[in-house]
Amino acid sequence: MNKSCLLTTNFSNRDYWQAIVLYGLNAATYKMALATVLLQSARAGESELSWGDLSERYLKEYLTRLETNSQPQQSNPSRLTKMERIVADIKAGKESFDTAVVRVADEAFSDVIPRFHTVGRDSKFAQDTFYTTEFGRKLTLTDALLSLPDVTQLNEEVAARWSLLEGAFVINQSNYDLANSIRDIYLKDGYDRKPLAPTIPFLNGYQGNVCFYCGEALGDDIHVDHVLPRQVLNHDEIWNLVLSHSHCNMLKSDRLVGDHFITKLIARNENIMGSNHPWKAKIASALGATPHKRAKTLQYHYDNVKVAIGVSYWGGAEGYNPSSDPFYRRLITQLNNK
Ligand SMILES: [Zn+2]
Repeated sequence: MNKSCLLTTNFSNRDYWQAIVLYGLNAATYKMALATVLLQSARAGESELSWGDLSERYLKEYLTRLETNSQPQQSNPSRLTKMERIVADIKAGKESFDTAVVRVADEAFSDVIPRFHTVGRDSKFAQDTFYTTEFGRKLTLTDALLSLPDVTQLNEEVAARWSLLEGAFVINQSNYDLANSIRDIYLKDGYDRKPLAPTIPFLNGYQGNVCFYCGEALGDDIHVDHVLPRQVLNHDEIWNLVLSHSHCNMLKSDRLVGDHFITKLIARNENIMGSNHPWKAKIASALGATPHKRAKTLQYHYDNVKVAIGVSYWGGAEGYNPSSDPFYRRLITQLNNK
C-alpha cells in the first residue's frame, strides 16, 4: 500500500521539483535545460541569476548536449527548436558564441521561464516556488530552490528525463503523421469540457470509495481523472473517468498508464454495466454491446494513445502493486466470474 497518498496536500519542495521536472507531457526539452541550470545555481548557493548568465549557461547546456548526440529536442520531424537552430548556426560558423548568447537571451525564454512551474495543466500549482522573474533582467532564486536536498541525484533525474524525452521524440518523429491523424480524429469527435464534479457520487459507488490508482481510501480529496489523457481523447466520457487522490492524479499527470490500469478500467466499466444506472447505455453505445466488444474498443483507444503520445508508462505510485490492491482483485474476480 502506498502511504504517500495519505499526505495528499503536504508536498515537500522536492515533491514539487520532481512533479515539475519528471511528470507531464513535455513538448520539447526546454524544461530540462532550465532545470539543469537552476540546480547548478542551487549547488553554488546563488540567489540571483542575471539574464546574461542565464542565457550563457542555458546555451552551454544545449551545446554540450548536441555536441555528442543529435537527438531531436521536440516531436515534429519538419521542425527544429530555437535552441537547435542556434546551436546549428554556431556549428556552421554563422554565429559566434557571444552573439548566440544574445540571441538566446532575446528568443529562447518566452515559453520556458513563465511555464516552468506548470504541472500538467495546472499553472498555479507550484507557481514561483523555485524562482521569481523580472523578465529580460533576472531570476531571483528562492530558498526552496537553494535548500533542495540531494542536488546530485536530482541532477541525474533531470538528465535521465532529458534522454527519455529525446528517445520519445525519436519514436514520435518516425510515427509523426500517424500520431497527428489520430489526434485529428479525436479532435473532430470532441466536445467542450464539462464540469466533472457531478460524476463523483456516481463513480464513487462503482469504485468502493477508494482511489483508482493506489487503492487507498479517498476521503474528501477527490479528483476526477481521465485514465487515457484528455488531451488526446478530447472527451469526458464516463468509461474513461475514474476518481483518484489529487496526489495520485498529479503523479500520473498526462502520462499513459500501464496495462494493469487498463485491465482495471475495463473491469470497473463492467461493474457499471452490471447495474441499472442510466449511464450504462452511454457506455454500451460508446464501447459496444458485449463485454468482449467493450474491452476491444477500450484497448483500441489505448493503442491509439500510445501512438499519439509515445510510450512512456506510468505504473502507479511508488510501491503500488496491483496484485495486493483488494479493490483491483475484487473487480477482476467479478469480471472472470461473468
Ligand atoms: Zn491514491
